[in-house]
Amino acid sequence: MAERMIVVGGDAAGMATAAQARRRRDRHDLEIVAFERGHFTSYSACGIPYWISGLVPDREQLVARDPATHREQFDIDVRIRHEVTAIDLDRREVLARDLDGGGEVRERFDTLMYAAGAVPIKPDWARSDMAGVFGVQTLDDGTALRQWLDAEPGPRRAVVVGGGYIGVEMAEALVLRGLSVTLVERGEQPMSTVDPDMARLVTEAMRGVGVDIRTGVRVIGLSERDGRVSGVETDTDPIPADLVVLGLGVRPNTALAEAAGLPLGPTGGIRVDRRMRVTGVPGVWAAGDCVETLHRVSGMPVHVPLGTHANKQGRVAGINIGGGYATFAGVIGTAVTKVCDLEVGRTGLREQEALAAGFEFVTVIAESTNRAGYYPGARPMTVKLIAERTSGRLLGAQIVGWSEAAKRIDTLAVALWNKMTVDDMTALDLGYAPPYAPVWDPVLVAARKAVDALAR
Ligand SMILES: Cc1cc2nc3c(=O)[nH]c(=O)nc-3n(C[C@H](O)[C@H](O)[C@H](O)COP(=O)(O)OP(=O)(O)OC[C@H]3O[C@@H](n4cnc5c(N)ncnc54)[C@H](O)[C@@H]3O)c2cc1C
Repeated sequence: MAERMIVVGGDAAGMATAAQARRRRDRHDLEIVAFERGHFTSYSACGIPYWISGLVPDREQLVARDPATHREQFDIDVRIRHEVTAIDLDRREVLARDLDGGGEVRERFDTLMYAAGAVPIKPDWARSDMAGVFGVQTLDDGTALRQWLDAEPGPRRAVVVGGGYIGVEMAEALVLRGLSVTLVERGEQPMSTVDPDMARLVTEAMRGVGVDIRTGVRVIGLSERDGRVSGVETDTDPIPADLVVLGLGVRPNTALAEAAGLPLGPTGGIRVDRRMRVTGVPGVWAAGDCVETLHRVSGMPVHVPLGTHANKQGRVAGINIGGGYATFAGVIGTAVTKVCDLEVGRTGLREQEALAAGFEFVTVIAESTNRAGYYPGARPMTVKLIAERTSGRLLGAQIVGWSEAAKRIDTLAVALWNKMTVDDMTALDLGYAPPYAPVWDPVLVAARKAVDALAR
């Protein structure tokens, strides 16, 4: 009899696992059933802001593989609109509710892949079914928001609550749709994934495109008129709104896992080993936004919910389930985003994180340009480096600037991953031609400045 794998969650981590396992084992050897409570499989939540803005015209462009493709190409029994409600590890069964047809199904498993993603953080005031209040966690959420925006008469005033990268991207999307947008952030700057001195540049750029940014402001409630949201109440002034988008961060979606007795780590994510096996629970695997992983610089467990990791971890799990050998090497916190034309990148540790990890370090900020100063389109680029004081090892880097800024972080990520010192970095053979960089690339300018700072 074929081994039976059940997958909980039909997006990046779950379906990457299923597809990789299928590449190595045919249906007679491994039967795969995947439950997804939404309408879509293998979709790009990362693309939601760009579909909302209209930059990506069709929702279907965000779907890499629909359920029919998974069935036909990979022989995976995909059950969309089925929510897994319980996992019984003793009986090796899951219970799932059919959200459209009604009723429940009980399915046996030999192998379980838990890939239920993350859940948006919602304070009490945000647990509202008031019309006009949206999250953007899944493509179903994005669809509800897009339909609302397309409806006539369309809303005009939007408030985005939360200034993480999703809040920032959604603010941009709504500006591009012609709404007047206020972003409320309880911290001193949006984009707390970079240091405050770098985040200030993001604030300025967002104000430059017309976003009203209110920092140091805490939302305490929503107001309503005729069943629709009419405003956001804060600890300072109320803000009128026809539309509220919530971007308050996420936490691992572990309710079912916890109830089944899967172990959680200090970050709240499921504990897995480097092959994505749930620690101490034979036959059970987990990947993606629901797990915690190792930070290669701090050495600490972290929860970094990003699609890039979910896909890689799913691939690792699938190769292992398929009978091969693969490991996930951990993360260094690399991430990029943009606000209109301003690009932001980071890798490694921020100052606060480096302090918390016990490092002694120097920081430098280098101002440069993306192209030779005389070349048309040259724009400012700011690079911040954090280097360990005694060894000179690069611990973290952040970049804010115009075109070609964000992906420059990859050079720094490779240096950091390979434990290079800033001194080593000054000798890097990086490409130069006036349309692409000044003769000293901004990365090299920053490395030289860090070497000088270490020498002082
Ligand atoms: C707006 C937005 C923009 C983003 N941009 C980026 C980006 O630019 N770069 C980047 O790296 N990452 C980005 N991300 C993060 C990225 O989308 C996630 O890290 C990635 O989708 C995680 O994949 P996952 O499979 O672990 O979880 P998810 O993609 O969340 O998939 C989990 C799935 O499980 C389903 N599910 C949950 N519980 C159950 C249940 N009980 N039964 C059945 N199904 C269930 C859910 O419906 C969901 O479809 C973005 C996310 C959002 C929301």
